Amino acid sequence: MPRVYLSPPHMGPDERALLLDAFDSNWIAPLGPHVEAFERELAARVGAGHAAALSSGTAALHLALQILGVGPGDEVVTSTLTFAATANPIVYQGARPVFVDVHPETWTLDPALVAEAVEDGVRRGRPPKAVITVDLYGQCADHDPIREVCDRHGVPVVEDAAEALGATYKGRAAGTLGAMGVFSFNGNKIITTSGGGMLVTDREDWARQARHLATQARQPAPHYEHTEVGNNYRLSNLLAAVGRGQLRVLDERVAARRAHNAFYREALADLPGVSFMPEAPYGRSTCWLTCLLVDPRAAGVDREALRLALEAEDIEARPVWKPMHLQPVFRECRALGGEVAAGLFERGLCLPSGSSLSVADRARVVDVLRRAVRR
Ligand SMILES: *Cc1c(COP(=O)(O)O)cnc(C)c1O
Repeated sequence: MPRVYLSPPHMGPDERALLLDAFDSNWIAPLGPHVEAFERELAARVGAGHAAALSSGTAALHLALQILGVGPGDEVVTSTLTFAATANPIVYQGARPVFVDVHPETWTLDPALVAEAVEDGVRRGRPPKAVITVDLYGQCADHDPIREVCDRHGVPVVEDAAEALGATYKGRAAGTLGAMGVFSFNGNKIITTSGGGMLVTDREDWARQARHLATQARQPAPHYEHTEVGNNYRLSNLLAAVGRGQLRVLDERVAARRAHNAFYREALADLPGVSFMPEAPYGRSTCWLTCLLVDPRAAGVDREALRLALEAEDIEARPVWKPMHLQPVFRECRALGGEVAAGLFERGLCLPSGSSLSVADRARVVDVLRRAVRR
């Protein structure tokens, strides 16, 4: 039996046709008609004014911080429960991450702790230069109270919606809840271009600046004049073609992941000591990954035993993100709380959730888990 992956790419016929169109047109460059069309279509889809297609979600986050002027000595507040790509661009800019704990009912940034972090900075005469919210596993952070405190102190919010394209918060699209939003089209995301990202914003000047900084900050002179340091972060026209095809099936992809989530909840509901990441009442998650929590006393097994039982059947599952405040590389960084995220890491397991996951493979996952917990 072939290995069951956590979240593999899921391509369709449109992606192939668009890719071949890009190839045959000889626009084999990080420029071209598909890049502009992808930007237009994605911006329209989420209701953002503008979009810049980039080589990765990490690049999009890095550009957002560059545009906001984050620099050496600045502090940037973000969630401790995330992938390292949220925090790394803070360090690229010479700034310092401040890691804030999550709320147990959403697994996303605890708004009260964000307020504490911001107000503490204000008291010290050093308000954070930005707050990066993280829409975890497809669930939006509780943006309204976060925005309230950030707006009051003039702190811009960047929304890391890498895992949440297609999610909503109080009816608004994930990615549009801050001053800038970031999506990822990495191979494991909801839709993919193999690698890629997008920065969305309502500010046209910021979108223009993002494209400029992503193309080596070349001034329009024949000899290329440079007045600032740029990056090579533009998305290739070939990959943008794939992205356009993927965007057309986004709703189906989200629906498939949500169906997996509903299936797992139902099929494992009676297992002692097993619960799931809550879906917050304020929005609709993409259920990028379905995550469960194991209470070893009630279940008789711990998270790692379940992961290994799945691995023995060639099924890929992963622990919930190891919090950034526990990562050796960020040991010196400031943190507010962190016990909630640490507990979720210790007890949380992400199950195979790809939109192409078959009904038979899904049933196998459940079967392995049920046998492991009963023992
Ligand atoms: C995947 C991911 C990123 C980075 O996106 P890339 O396209 O892989 O650079 C950033 N933040 C989060 C939360 C992610 O899951």
